Amino acid sequence: MKRVNHWINGAPFEGAGRTADIYNPASGVVSGQVALASVEDVDAAVAAASAAYPAWRDSSLVKRAQVLFNFRALMYEHRDELAALISAEHGKVHSDALGEVARGLEVVEFACGIPHLLKGGFSEGVSTRVDSYSIRQPLGVVAGITPFNFPAMVPMWMFPLAIACGNAFILKPSEKDPSASLLMARLWKEAGLPDGIFSVVQGDKVAVDRLLSHPDVRALSFVGSTPIARYVYETGTAHGKRIQALGGAKNHMLVLPDADLDLVADSAVSAGFGSAGERCMAISVVLAVDPIGDELVSKIASRVAQLKIGPGDNPESEMGPLVTREHRDKVASYLDLDEGFKIIVDGREGRPEGEGFWLGPTVLDHVQIGSRVHTEEIFGPVLSIVRVSSYEEGVEVINALEYGNGTAIFTNDGGAARRFQNEVEVGMVGINVPIPVPMAFYSFGGWKSSLFGDTHVHGTEGVHFYTRGKVVTSRWLDPSHGGVNLGFPTNK
Ligand code: NAD
Repeated sequence: MKRVNHWINGAPFEGAGRTADIYNPASGVVSGQVALASVEDVDAAVAAASAAYPAWRDSSLVKRAQVLFNFRALMYEHRDELAALISAEHGKVHSDALGEVARGLEVVEFACGIPHLLKGGFSEGVSTRVDSYSIRQPLGVVAGITPFNFPAMVPMWMFPLAIACGNAFILKPSEKDPSASLLMARLWKEAGLPDGIFSVVQGDKVAVDRLLSHPDVRALSFVGSTPIARYVYETGTAHGKRIQALGGAKNHMLVLPDADLDLVADSAVSAGFGSAGERCMAISVVLAVDPIGDELVSKIASRVAQLKIGPGDNPESEMGPLVTREHRDKVASYLDLDEGFKIIVDGREGRPEGEGFWLGPTVLDHVQIGSRVHTEEIFGPVLSIVRVSSYEEGVEVINALEYGNGTAIFTNDGGAARRFQNEVEVGMVGINVPIPVPMAFYSFGGWKSSLFGDTHVHGTEGVHFYTRGKVVTSRWLDPSHGGVNLGFPTNK
């Protein structure tokens, strides 16, 4: 049985002590063991990163860009292997896993432009023979803690820019699908990254808590559920660290009566059931503005009936299992709630054979505003339809939510779309686009309980997060100085 270790100082690191089971979600069978880091294991990773950092910080921008280009090429070459590892531990279908690798690589490609991204400002002659310039410098050792649902892409939201900016990065991936992190570590080494600049500590709360309290970890990026995001933000900032902590979501799609309902149904099914709904940008609620509800529900239901459910390594499969038995049971438990909704398609029926963590696509109609199914993050293949009477009511429902990650409006009315983008209290907005995940050169992040901290990930906000600004004021004497002056420096 495979054992998934840590990666410290450019080599696998076994660590001692606790382990956890890794499952194949399609079969329900244990496929391996993952090491769970102790405080000492984390300290070893931080020590190696701290020792490697100064030389990497002082390496030229061009050298760093070259390593990133090499890493990009190797990741592309190994994308099928990476996708297969993801699929085997997460359960998502191979094509979806390839998609996450591709989206993650876009951040690597963006980070290849680091010589341009780190250009500062220069003002010649701010005072007599005095120049001023601003530079951005790396922080030191930084860490990333990532969720199970994108074991390659979410870490790639963080480490390409952190490393390109000159930091040493420690990844603590999800213990549910840890193998992708080790392949990426091996490829970094092959790409020429110095040992200690990219490390992996596998583990759980013990590892997270040590990273949050370790005095040599300067900043920490987190992506996961809202309660843990809040905890990481509060604990990390209390320890004086810079934190960005992205949390959960409950993304609504508002459908106006003038929308193309076939496009809406295709989009809702794709965005609702892709990756079995285990995406932070999945659509989980469709707000159907009267009178289109019945027609839309029937179009959605007929498409859902065609979906092919099966193991991720079967090229025919469009949707795989959920990540664990506990998560599957939690998602399915929402269907037992007595909240007045109508089950249009019941995912508990007709599941594939075997012990895998299966739940088929589920469609619920007449979901009540404010009910648990409506407001709680279910994070599975459950699409709720909520009927609303107007655009205004739809926006009110979205803005009353705890979360503000993603949203979409479907309409042919440009004026309504512009109004929506202005009025909706959500960080990422799609207009006739169901999963509006920003490209790498923009920044990704939600509002309200979907993000704690000030900076979103990747794009220029990512560069800011992993650097700190310095302004230098220089004067070269020509030919002599003007003597002592105790007044406040002003321009002359
Ligand atoms: P999770 O919060 O359970 O775990 C995330 C990370 O935190 C993992 O590395 C885990 O080991 C660690 N962790 C778990 N419990 C902890 C604790 N008590 N103390 C310290 N660390 C702990 O999330 P998950 O189930 O892996 O991922 C799904 C969640 O992530 C969903 O809520 C989803 O919306 C969210 N997510 C958000 C985004 C976003 O961009 N906002 C992206 C992807 C996923």
